[in-house]
Amino acid sequence: MSGRDSGTRARADEPRGAGRDVRAQKASDGVVRDDRAQQESHGAASHDPAPGGEPGGAVRRTPGPSTAAVHAGEPRCKPANALATPIIQTATYTFADTQELCDLFEHRIEREEYGRYGNPTQRIAEEKLAALEGAEDCLLFASGMAAITTTLFAMLSHGAHVVVTDDSYRRTRQFLNQVLHRYGIEVSTVPAGDYEALEDVLRPTTRIMLSESPTNPYNRVLDLERFADIGRRHRVKTLIDATFATPFNQRPLEFGVDLVLHSATKYLGGHNDLLAGAVLGPADLVDGIRSMHGMIGAVLDPFAAYLLVRGLKTLALRIERQNANAQALAEFLAHHPRVTAVHYPGLPTHPQHDIARRQMRGFGGVVSFEVTGGLDAASRVVDACTIPRIAPSLGGVESLIEQPALMSFYELTTEERLQVGIKDNLVRYAVGIEDVADLIDDLATALARM
Ligand code: PLP
Repeated sequence: MSGRDSGTRARADEPRGAGRDVRAQKASDGVVRDDRAQQESHGAASHDPAPGGEPGGAVRRTPGPSTAAVHAGEPRCKPANALATPIIQTATYTFADTQELCDLFEHRIEREEYGRYGNPTQRIAEEKLAALEGAEDCLLFASGMAAITTTLFAMLSHGAHVVVTDDSYRRTRQFLNQVLHRYGIEVSTVPAGDYEALEDVLRPTTRIMLSESPTNPYNRVLDLERFADIGRRHRVKTLIDATFATPFNQRPLEFGVDLVLHSATKYLGGHNDLLAGAVLGPADLVDGIRSMHGMIGAVLDPFAAYLLVRGLKTLALRIERQNANAQALAEFLAHHPRVTAVHYPGLPTHPQHDIARRQMRGFGGVVSFEVTGGLDAASRVVDACTIPRIAPSLGGVESLIEQPALMSFYELTTEERLQVGIKDNLVRYAVGIEDVADLIDDLATALARM
């Protein structure tokens, strides 16, 4: 942990993990066990590929995403022999004596120090998420926006240039164009998927290329290999906000992307009851961000970390269902006479369907579609639905529905909205885990009433 705020002691080069009071060792599959449990592990931990293989040469399979979601990151032995991960609800941590303090700062021991540098429940959530994403390291934040802003602050300085793709969460764009601009950081916006434009705007000062994939709200899919390759060739770090996909559907690091960001508020938490954000990638990159995190302090609360660990356990189950529900809903909409366009990467008509098939296990739970008519027609459909609730956000077990033109761009005129690519007749349907027949029946009735 490098973000310790110990006055002159805080250093960017402190080893990661300093301060963990759960003595955890991460195996190559991310399943974490404490020292004692190494001898008594069974269940998923026994799926660890043993270094050098099993006696007799058998090689154990790497746990699949469901096994990892349930078991990875958690020590086999927890305090009081609890099965569930405990919430360590404390703001600070005590030292037995001055020697222990010195041992921590000299890196002879690992333990917690102060709540702004993280907490044990957060560490477990980080290890679980790192295992799912196939990342060396993970850092959690108080929200997705905290992850994005802290990461950008950590990686950029005055005079730097950033490229962002156009169809992305509005607050991310605002932070880049309005806030970072004030600190002398320049931003270019290019259409998502236009790789020539992307390469054209790069400058010697470009430090970051940032995109979502799939994007919000139009579900555009980036060719991650191509994106990462451009970054490598120009020595520019590539960042993907993979909130819409989750590591179950897509693992951008495997395609050469440098860092993955998530709003864990969405699918990772999965129950619309917590706010969290994450950045994942190589330890050296994440460690630099950890230093900034310790200063900015948008730390994940222990209770939210507990909820995240609990939510992540069912990630694979939930996403499988949401993928299937969204696919069925998209196919239904694609044939509906009152729907003029459906934006879902699982449809063969989607412009990046082939790319999505190559790099995604499933196509996600968000279906965006355009209805005949304008703002009012779309509002009538939204209002007539009885199962999805009208709310911002996505990714929980409950279906949510909204019009981006109103929910996110309310104060703009139709023309201004069109300039940023948001159509008035666009509806974003974030499917939950309800029975798909009910969702389709409900939406069919709503469209009939338009
Ligand atoms: N990234 C994407 C793609 C989002 O959709 C959102 C929020 O909707 C965020 C980031 C911000 O996440 P949070 O609301 O957790 O701050």
